[in-house]
Amino acid sequence: MRKSYLLTLVLSIFFSTIKGQDSSAPILKQLESKSEQYGNIAQEIWNLAEMGYQEEKSSALLQKTLSDAGFKITKGVAGIPTAFIAEYGSGTPIIAIMGEYDALPGLSQEAVSEKKSAGKASGHACGHHLFGTASAAAAIASKDWLATNKEQGTIRFYGTPAEEGGSGKVFMVREGLFNDVDIALHWHPSSQNTASAGAALANKSAKFRFYGVSAHAAGSPEKGRSALDGVEAMNTMVNMMREHIPQEARIHYVITDGGKAPNVVPDFAEVYYYARHNTRDVVIDIFDRMVKAAEGAALGTGTTMDYEMIGGTHELLPNLTLQKLMHDNLSKIGGIEYSAEEKIFADKIAQSLGQEKADLAMAKNVQPYRTEARAYGSTDVGDVSFTVPTVGMGAATWVPGTPAHSWQAVAAGGTSIGNKGMMVAAKTLTLTAIELFGNNTLVSEAKKEFQEKRGADFKYIPLLGDRAPALDYRN
Ligand SMILES: [Zn+2]
Ligand SMILES: [Zn+2]
Repeated sequence: MRKSYLLTLVLSIFFSTIKGQDSSAPILKQLESKSEQYGNIAQEIWNLAEMGYQEEKSSALLQKTLSDAGFKITKGVAGIPTAFIAEYGSGTPIIAIMGEYDALPGLSQEAVSEKKSAGKASGHACGHHLFGTASAAAAIASKDWLATNKEQGTIRFYGTPAEEGGSGKVFMVREGLFNDVDIALHWHPSSQNTASAGAALANKSAKFRFYGVSAHAAGSPEKGRSALDGVEAMNTMVNMMREHIPQEARIHYVITDGGKAPNVVPDFAEVYYYARHNTRDVVIDIFDRMVKAAEGAALGTGTTMDYEMIGGTHELLPNLTLQKLMHDNLSKIGGIEYSAEEKIFADKIAQSLGQEKADLAMAKNVQPYRTEARAYGSTDVGDVSFTVPTVGMGAATWVPGTPAHSWQAVAAGGTSIGNKGMMVAAKTLTLTAIELFGNNTLVSEAKKEFQEKRGADFKYIPLLGDRAPALDYRN
């Protein structure tokens, strides 16, 4: 009696351990067989290159893909026409996979190895066409696993617009759309395969607008007050301020309107600022000092000033329980091999970046696991990571050495290199979701770590305040 009980126990532990692996193999195979289909979707979005909050066709294409696969779609969430949630399954755990699909202004580039504009207003220089597509592919594969194995759980795809400066996810978090999620997954295009616990900087961004008085710049300058003077005085003060802020901080700006003609004193000028640091309290302090500089600039130049908050994100809260899982899964999947044709392309791209040839081992291998990887970008995933346990990874979709937001990133993203790298992410996310669906203990451990790190008295306060989504910020 006792013997048979022990045998049953041992067998049940054995089968539950191999269940995840066994059952994921056919799902990954099926996912691989759809590589071409997903590649075509990604390239369609690459071609569209729609900017933040204007991603109507890109969003619709991903919605259709998910809806055709049996997901229930809720669109236009959080007051954003291009945001949506696709859901399949029932009960817990609820696993969310985030997908982005916005392009960047400028950076128009053909899918060739020399700098050549495609003549558009924008380009996918951050690879979000791959991001959205691979995440949708992973959501569909996770759904296939739930359906095939008749497992309980809910898989959701979050279509999150305007990551580049629009803070789309912040509005979705503020709306409470992530509140019932157990674990959130994401990834990002990169020039290497990595799933280390990386940082991201909190940020606040705003457009400062100065209003002056127009007059003939030579005939009656004394009657004018230059709005551009306001912008320049503000910039001078903020640039002086750089010496007196924590050195890890980042401040950058572009003058989005500086007047139209030198012989007209400009009555309007605008400067668009970002402030970043790895803790949001420092960002809030720097931003408040920038506002003071703007007020002082207006006072000194006889102009008036107002500002509009555009974006604001939390830093990333890493979850090591989940990160290790993601790293192990990425290591199982591995990186990509370039074809002969891709190697020629990659070497030319590498040469344009000042390297002799492309370091293809970087695309093939997975970077060693680190618990404190450094990064200086920002992401609105930060706000999600302070709402639910969140984990991400990077896949080599760009030629090794390529920086994000470069023409080289747009170029590789428009080729089979981008498509191949994207599938590494799709498979890793799928494996991770499957493992989480099959392992409640893991989900609980991740939640426990999340609660401890976030702190008992944490209260979510969006850095961009109560403003509505800046749907026209790219107009
Ligand atoms: Zn970016
Ligand atoms: Zn990005």
